[in-house]
Amino acid sequence: MPFRVETFDRIEDAARALAANRNARFYGGGTILMCAVNAGSQSFDTLIRINRNDLGIIRAEGDRMSIGSGVTMSQVLQSRDLDFLHPVAIAVGGPAIRTAATVGGNLYAAAPYGDFATALLALGAEVQFGGDGGSAMPIDQFLADRDRHRERIVSNILVRRPGDAGSFRFRKVTRVKPKGVAVMTLAALLPRSRSGIRVAYGNMAPTPVRAAAVERALEGANLDEAGIGPALAAATRGLSPASDALASQWYRQEVAPVHLKRMLLGQAG
Ligand SMILES: Cc1cc2nc3c(=O)[nH]c(=O)nc-3n(C[C@H](O)[C@H](O)[C@H](O)COP(=O)(O)OP(=O)(O)OC[C@H]3O[C@@H](n4cnc5c(N)ncnc54)[C@H](O)[C@@H]3O)c2cc1C
Repeated sequence: MPFRVETFDRIEDAARALAANRNARFYGGGTILMCAVNAGSQSFDTLIRINRNDLGIIRAEGDRMSIGSGVTMSQVLQSRDLDFLHPVAIAVGGPAIRTAATVGGNLYAAAPYGDFATALLALGAEVQFGGDGGSAMPIDQFLADRDRHRERIVSNILVRRPGDAGSFRFRKVTRVKPKGVAVMTLAALLPRSRSGIRVAYGNMAPTPVRAAAVERALEGANLDEAGIGPALAAATRGLSPASDALASQWYRQEVAPVHLKRMLLGQAG
């Protein structure tokens, strides 16, 4: 099937064109979309692009960083302001993928992808859409209802730098080193005060999710073997991860507490 490419200068115009055509997809870096095109996907026939790359900007906005949705993983790695996200960006694919893979595309990437989105969920980021008057949506809300937002264009993501050094943790569990896709991804924001804790998993549900029972068990707890015991016991409470070619549901449930423990205690491996 021939694919049409429609290119716009303004995000507002691109957003209107996308909303008006159910067979259109917004083109970020194309690392997922072009695989679908090459595989002869029948689910869309039009690609919508933006000409001037206003979406590739990283800037400070008050006490938060605004990351344009078109910022690539390589650009994240080059940004000193985003140093807290370097361990995440380096975990996405290999060097060739990272030069094209965007932050916006990662928000929409189906499992087993979405490592960056998992980190943004732990950090309590907010998502802004183009042609939308600029209101920001908590990433929890965006991910919980992601399919409803397929006809919109994410313009940028707002994220606060973690306050305390070492309070943001990230871990990607793979079987193929160094750049395999994730069996599961874990990310956490662990403020020293132990309030406002956020723990997120990738590949333990259809979209990245928060581990609510783990967060509750960690409130006020010491991050030592005894203190994290209740959190480990609750590691997969309320979650039914899928079985796929990478791992079974049983395996994911068995290894989740092991990797959660290593992340919380800051252990290698
Ligand atoms: C070999 C390989 C290895 C990979 N490894 C990893 C990995 O380790 N970890 C990982 O997380 N991912 C991985 N990916 C998946 C992918 O590269 C990343 O998730 C990437 O961030 C997707 O971004 P993109 O810009 O290329 O998305 P695209 O392919 O352009 O788009 C993907 C989806 O997002 C939508 N979209 C893109 N941008 C926007 C926007 N601004 N607003 C609204 N919708 C938008 C598109 O319409 C489409 O539905 C891998 C892919 C390949 C091919």
